[in-house]
Amino acid sequence: MQEAPCECPECKRRAEAEKEHEEMNFAILLALVPALVITFFGNAGLF
Ligand SMILES: [Zn+2]
Repeated sequence: MQEAPCECPECKRRAEAEKEHEEMNFAILLALVPALVITFFGNAGLF
């Protein structure tokens, strides 16, 4: 289910930028999770 996107270059560019932004956020999240897990277990004294 997808709304028909506006096809003008401006909207296309914005949609592209938003997608890259989301991918960047996701990559940062993926990079942070292991660090958080290691910190958590480190604090819990399991490592
Ligand atoms: Zn447009």
